[in-house]
Amino acid sequence: QRFPVVVVGAGPAGLTIGNILRAASVDCLVLEVETREFIERRPRAGVLEEGAVRGLQRRGLADNLLARAQRHTECEFRFAGERYRFEYAKLTGVHHWVYPQQLLVTDLVREYADVRGGAIRFGVRDVELHDVDTDHPSVSYTCPETGQRQVVHCDFVAGCDGARGVTRDALPADRARVSRSDYGIGWLALLAEAPPSSDCVLFGMHPRGFAGHMPRSAEVTRYYLECPPGDDPENWSQDRVWTELQQRLQADGVPPLTEGRLIEKRVLDMHNYVVEPMVFGRLFLAGDAAHLTAPIAAKGMNLALHDAFLLGDGLVAHLSKGDGTALDGYSAACLNRVWDCQEFSHWLSEVYHGTSSGDPYRAGTTLARLRRLFDSPTAAMAFAEQYLGRNAGH
Ligand code: FAD
Repeated sequence: QRFPVVVVGAGPAGLTIGNILRAASVDCLVLEVETREFIERRPRAGVLEEGAVRGLQRRGLADNLLARAQRHTECEFRFAGERYRFEYAKLTGVHHWVYPQQLLVTDLVREYADVRGGAIRFGVRDVELHDVDTDHPSVSYTCPETGQRQVVHCDFVAGCDGARGVTRDALPADRARVSRSDYGIGWLALLAEAPPSSDCVLFGMHPRGFAGHMPRSAEVTRYYLECPPGDDPENWSQDRVWTELQQRLQADGVPPLTEGRLIEKRVLDMHNYVVEPMVFGRLFLAGDAAHLTAPIAAKGMNLALHDAFLLGDGLVAHLSKGDGTALDGYSAACLNRVWDCQEFSHWLSEVYHGTSSGDPYRAGTTLARLRRLFDSPTAAMAFAEQYLGRNAGH
């Protein structure tokens, strides 16, 4: 078997690249370990920046999103028993889009496989990369139906298999630097079958720990609760979750949260990593395979899409016009944005977690940062720019 490009992983990054290639009539094969039903139902992110939505729209990938996504224009910080609305759209003219990741993945799979006729294999096992530092790389995998090994020869491999994938391991240790940071904090990530309790995202900074409220749809709301890293989700009964959420998100004059059945409950250890460069020979990493940002600043899916636009366009330019300029600049262009988001994530982590650190000095500086957002138009503007994502010009 031979395809110009093999894409490993059918997440937002891999499927976007596949769609860009198919629109330019470049053949590619997408390999995915899970089933189609599974990836179309896996809930994760939900917040999309305008730049990401424009990038999808420009490539014909945003019709459903534009018809169904919610537009958010403000968020609310709750601390010291008070609520503070942050009206970012009024300030900047830019807003956020809320569209659950599984709906975006469903749209992208349908467009790639059913409309643009792209090749995709679900349920593959033991994906291995070979000779990626030569001009004739290949990828092998075990076929789920026959149990036999298949080898696919190609010109390029796009490693889009997320944080737990295998493609990152193909970069030799002496050719790539992996920088890591660990916040030493856990977040209990929850999905509740409950309508949102506010029309916007809420951030609760409380001495008992951070709490977040993120509307996902009219029926489902994502919540986060700061917890010890590695905590067992079973320690968090339905009662304990709602008691903590009610306390941490409480503010003067607001009614209690609307409670509901918890349909997802898992602990995320807050950590980040960045792989530099994101390229080794004919292997190009994109999205979480190359860099992880803890969901603190809601940047992961946006960065994955940004990489995918650059890599998809770069592969098309190389394979259809022989122009390798974009591929040559790919890693550096992605990493500038990645480090910008990493820095913002660190800044925001201190805002979320300083109050509950047990250190009165950190609690004091955190409250100063928060007050500054509402006292200083310059500080508000700087925050809004990072929060909404700097214009990526896709
Ligand atoms: P993934 O979505 O992880 O896709 C990788 C794909 O590769 C998967 O389908 C996987 O099954 C497959 N795969 C894995 N290993 C292999 C293999 N060996 N071979 C073949 N296929 C393989 N980001 C935001 O921007 N905003 C948010 O609000 C936000 N909230 C989040 C909330 C939670 C609870 C979590 C966990 C994440 C959140 N993120 C958020 C991050 C976001 O979900 C990720 O950054 C995004 O999914 C990255 O896309 P990707 O395509 O790089 O990787």
